[in-house]
Amino acid sequence: MKNKAIITSLNAGIYKLVDKNTNVEYQAYAKGFFRYQKVDEKSEFNINITNKNKKDIKILKISPKVGDIVEYEISNDKCFIVKIYPRKNEILRPDVSNVDNAILIFSAKEPDISFMLLDKMILLCYIENIKPFLVITKKDLDSNLNILKDKLNYYNKYLNIDIYYVNNLKEFDNSFLDSIIKDKITILAGQSGVGKSSFINNIYPMINIKTQEISKALGRGKHTTRNADLYYIKGGYIADTPGFSSISIPLKSEKELINYYPDFIELSRDCKFGYKCFHILEPNCNVSNNLDILKSRYINYTKLYDEIKSRKKIY
Ligand code: ZN
Repeated sequence: MKNKAIITSLNAGIYKLVDKNTNVEYQAYAKGFFRYQKVDEKSEFNINITNKNKKDIKILKISPKVGDIVEYEISNDKCFIVKIYPRKNEILRPDVSNVDNAILIFSAKEPDISFMLLDKMILLCYIENIKPFLVITKKDLDSNLNILKDKLNYYNKYLNIDIYYVNNLKEFDNSFLDSIIKDKITILAGQSGVGKSSFINNIYPMINIKTQEISKALGRGKHTTRNADLYYIKGGYIADTPGFSSISIPLKSEKELINYYPDFIELSRDCKFGYKCFHILEPNCNVSNNLDILKSRYINYTKLYDEIKSRKKIY
């Protein structure tokens, strides 16, 4: 039987593996042949990267990363990673592969929700085939919580995103996370100042303690490392992230954007140009002024569309 494991951390070239069958932990090294691996359009490896680059890159530098499912061998008392299984996806900040879920954390007040950031995070999730969940903190601070709930309900109704409201100033019941996290890799991302660290403290205090220790040891601020650690909790793994909001949208053309707006697709049927409508300035568009679509969501769509379009011109 092959030795199969998941990589849960990477530190100075040493990988921590957890065997999929026995749960035994190993410290492992990567064999050199991962350095350059041919990746072509037919390759099943790194499907996303292959699609994005097509003709650009044939030989990619591939190293095992946190989240990878690997095969390992033990020789002379040393453990070596000998094979990386194809990745479902990979995100870069932090460097994690095979991410199933993202818990997006925002607050009801102080700061108010940035719907632009929310839409962008959801977009990034959909591009990487990650299922988003939404957690709203500081619900006690918003005296008009129902107005916010009405607005956010759009995301539940049209995108099927589950939304949870919590109050971090008091202990909250985190049992709703059980079914999300079990058997999955889940990343936590959020707007700054929303109380993400209190949230994490509630579910897994060790993460914050470790982050503080690393910061102290390095004498620098938080998140100095791009490497994530996976923490085993509730039968699955979670990783904290500095938020992947600052990453540019990995689309080649603004015309691809519409593929990641499932809430617009049904309505496209009644656009003059049907599914070929980009809902920007086309005549008789059924999306651009549709009252069923959250106004901010449509406006943010047009902004992201312009952002990708203008970025393209630079090259
Ligand atoms: Zn349209």
